[in-house]
Amino acid sequence: MPSFNFVSSANAVVLRGAQPVFADIKPNTLNIDPADVERKITSNTRAIVPVHYAGVGCEMEALATLADRHDLTIVEDAAQAVDAYYQGDPLGTIGDIGCFSFHETKNITCGEGGAFLTNSTEIAEKAELAREKGTNRSAFLRGEVDKYTWVSPGSSYVQSDILAAVLEVQLQRREVIKERRRRVWEGYHEALAPELEETGFRLPVIPNDRESNYHIFYVLAPNQDLRDRLLERLKSNGVDATFHYIPLHSSPFGQTITPDDVSLPVTTECSNRLIRLPVYPQLSHRIEEVAERVRSVFSEMV
Ligand SMILES: *Cc1c(COP(=O)(O)O)cnc(C)c1O
Repeated sequence: MPSFNFVSSANAVVLRGAQPVFADIKPNTLNIDPADVERKITSNTRAIVPVHYAGVGCEMEALATLADRHDLTIVEDAAQAVDAYYQGDPLGTIGDIGCFSFHETKNITCGEGGAFLTNSTEIAEKAELAREKGTNRSAFLRGEVDKYTWVSPGSSYVQSDILAAVLEVQLQRREVIKERRRRVWEGYHEALAPELEETGFRLPVIPNDRESNYHIFYVLAPNQDLRDRLLERLKSNGVDATFHYIPLHSSPFGQTITPDDVSLPVTTECSNRLIRLPVYPQLSHRIEEVAERVRSVFSEMV
């Protein structure tokens, strides 16, 4: 999995007693680099966890080739990737398993929640037991057994009906949500592209075979010092800009489970240079004004 990642997919591995191994990312999409994945595969490797950063798909074809060759499972961390596509296929449905998040920070939200998808009947059956505390209660509710009982290890991963009701409405508004986010994303891109292209900054890239859900808009500054100063200046101008992420291998816990000689140069560099600008549907109504404010902060400081 990438080290340029949120903690959840690494926690899932650690909590099962397995070892997350961090691969570097590609500088264009900030997604996991299949060439570095290949270098890190050993006879102990069991799975590849691509994280579709910012709602732009990883190189699934190259990863599938590696998975086939080494008999590995692909678990897509599609937390940021609901309603985004790779070569026409929805992200989260391409690997053996895909996981969505409906956390409050995501495009489609019910406050807290998520979805687990799999292409495998065998995995689906196991997951159904795991999510109902290791019981066959789902089979009971379908009338397949006359009482339910403890049949495997599990926990309580069921969603509350109340949150599911919120989620249902969000899902119905999926197209409007994506369209408004697209307007915000493109508003920033248009305001910044001509100014920044020549000055060592980099704007986000969506490769031609991928469709984004516009989850995140980011800019890579030429260096960390300028990034830090821009973040401060944007904030003092009322723009809630932030960094992303502390790479997992350099976090306090990550260091305890990662070899000292790990080298993830693109991860380190990009996370030091990254600025995220606010993206949310309501912002689409005043994106011209906000994008202009952002543009003027950048042009003052560059
Ligand atoms: C938000 C996020 C998660 C976690 O989602 P939860 O719903 O909090 O479990 C996992 N991975 C990535 C890449 C995320 O952005």
